[in-house]
Amino acid sequence: MSEPAKANLSQIPSVTVLLKAAEAAEGLRDLPSTVVTDALREAVEGLRSDLLGGGASVADCEVEAVLSRAASIAAARRVKRLTRVINATGVVLHTGLGRSVLPDAAVDRIARVARGYCSLEIDLESGRRGKRGQYAEQLLCRLTGAEAALIVNNNAAATMLVLNGLAKNREVVVSRGQLIEIGGSFRLPEVMSAGGAILREVGTTNKTHLRDYEAAVCEQTAMLMHVHTSNYRVVGFSESPGTAELTALAHDRGLVMFDDLGSGALLDDGLWAAADEPTVIASLKDGADVVSFSGDKLLGGPQAGILLGKRAIIDGLRRDPMARALRIDKLTIAALEATLELYESPETVNRHVPLLASLSTSAESLEERAESLASLLRAALPSEALEVSREETFAGGGSLPAWPIPTAVVRWRPTGGESLDDITKRLRTSNPSVLPRIREGAILFDLRTIDESEFGELVAVVAAAKS
Ligand SMILES: *Cc1c(COP(=O)(O)O)cnc(C)c1O
Repeated sequence: MSEPAKANLSQIPSVTVLLKAAEAAEGLRDLPSTVVTDALREAVEGLRSDLLGGGASVADCEVEAVLSRAASIAAARRVKRLTRVINATGVVLHTGLGRSVLPDAAVDRIARVARGYCSLEIDLESGRRGKRGQYAEQLLCRLTGAEAALIVNNNAAATMLVLNGLAKNREVVVSRGQLIEIGGSFRLPEVMSAGGAILREVGTTNKTHLRDYEAAVCEQTAMLMHVHTSNYRVVGFSESPGTAELTALAHDRGLVMFDDLGSGALLDDGLWAAADEPTVIASLKDGADVVSFSGDKLLGGPQAGILLGKRAIIDGLRRDPMARALRIDKLTIAALEATLELYESPETVNRHVPLLASLSTSAESLEERAESLASLLRAALPSEALEVSREETFAGGGSLPAWPIPTAVVRWRPTGGESLDDITKRLRTSNPSVLPRIREGAILFDLRTIDESEFGELVAVVAAAKS
């Protein structure tokens, strides 16, 4: 080691001195002492190796400089925690951003139930042991006309439970056009083998006929499975039998008909008809023995896997030891109950469930909102080029892939020399974080997913990112 480097090392303040100074230091004083100690130690180690490598000088050994280095280290760690994001991408069901935004009623119910004890498995009338999730299951049955319901952790779990419980070591017939990958490693053939069932593919990618299913049924067959190709569509010269036809065949041969609906549009109403999206109610009406879907896709509630169908089948699955391993927690139950209660008022549900509110807002009102946001941004950033325009977006989250949704955006082409990457990184790492869409060298703030209540924060984050 060279003499000057050694001399510089002796300039690093002692931990005792740094700890004392940290008590009043910006970015450190409000943090737990363990976090401060860790950050200071890391800062000192970093400084030492920078001094030795020639990447730092005596000036970096000032107490203030070391404290600021430690504050950045501590802040960088906190950025990794779950942070609220203002979703300006326009993608309503963004899996990376937690899919559905919960209705206020669901958030309130979670807080109410979580602060103390709750009646999770106690029947308060009789004082006896009750069944977890029973009220939510009853609500689901009333809303959809299903005989019975069972709620598990997510739809992947629901699918696995059905395959394992009803088709273990037996064959499940599926159309080749429906062997989908959803993302996040949900690939139907793999889920099938993990669930212990044997996949029997029939038909071709674009066309599968009822006679293909008929020909595949044999002694080993347990089930016909229909999978909603949630995140893509086969269009053009394509055909596959619907739920009603498959159910008729399944019942004729003494088999179970399972419909994995994925997205789970619940009610038969105008919104889903316009998007050509199959609904839970329609599938049950068509006679499917079991229907499964997610709680956090088009239902607009918490993450959950919902199974609806014939009582004997659902009750059998409920007794499966695997169901115990996949059970949902009280917070999910609280949120799901509150969300489903909103569906009891079909005339207002589109207003109270944020996902439905977002999808049913007209492009005209979004354009008005875009104008208000643009005015606020122009006031905060007078020299920037900001304009409102119409665009298209998609629902996302593996739903409605063939349904482009008209939307309105505020388009920002930052002036000055900064790179788009730098600016978007600053937006992303702010608190709240802001995630825009990037297109053709411009930053787009898509009003389809920005709530008016978020305008103030969004403008503040954008102004800070530009300064
Ligand atoms: C999304 C989806 C799944 C997986 O559901 P998760 O709730 O994400 O586990 C399974 N099947 C289909 C058809 C889907 O669309």
